[in-house]
Amino acid sequence: MSRVVRGMVTQSNDKLGGSVFHFDLPAGRHGTCPGRTSTCDSQCYAQRGRFLFPQVQDRLAYCYAATKRKDFVPRLVSELYRKGVLAMRWMVSGDVYSPGFAKKVMAVAEGTPFCRHWLYSRSWRIPAIEAVLRDLALVDNVSVWYSADRDAFPTEVPPRVRVAYMMSDADDHPVQPVDLVFLVHRLRKMALPMANVCLQETPEGRESGVTCSTCQVCLPD
Ligand code: SF4
Repeated sequence: MSRVVRGMVTQSNDKLGGSVFHFDLPAGRHGTCPGRTSTCDSQCYAQRGRFLFPQVQDRLAYCYAATKRKDFVPRLVSELYRKGVLAMRWMVSGDVYSPGFAKKVMAVAEGTPFCRHWLYSRSWRIPAIEAVLRDLALVDNVSVWYSADRDAFPTEVPPRVRVAYMMSDADDHPVQPVDLVFLVHRLRKMALPMANVCLQETPEGRESGVTCSTCQVCLPD
């Protein structure tokens, strides 16, 4: 009798669109967001709503446990291959929680050259993790984004890394130009005079049905 192996990636959500898969971890106070700031913690969509459903919590805990296993990398490489995953968003929920896990993310990306991977991380605030994120950003099929907000902005941005700023109110502007601006929910209906806002978070973008699957600005070339 063949053994059914539970999957670790999920296909699609409202923002990502139909052709992107995602791998997620518990968020916030589980030690999985070591670079979190008080602003991102207070705005975190992954600590409320549907993320609190028992079946979602169960999936996140399962994925977190899976990252600790010795066979995590070959299992995930195999799953991405079998499912034909061409675009992978790491951590819709959670973050790169340790240098060891960052190295596993890199190994998965290197083992799946057919797939484009991307992630946003505040773990650049943890020097030991940042050292691996720098290397991860140099992998051809990976885009690494350093997440910033009014509490924390990177003073140095490594090669191939881009910066995404979370704007938490109408007066909150980045201290330097950034590559992308994300808006907290209550700002998404406003016509803000901001450059580089994620199109999916604007009224025009939502009306035209933009998702990461069609936009692809954040993905590697
Ligand atoms: S800019 Fe495009 S790819 Fe990036 S998060 Fe927004 S919709 Fe997705």
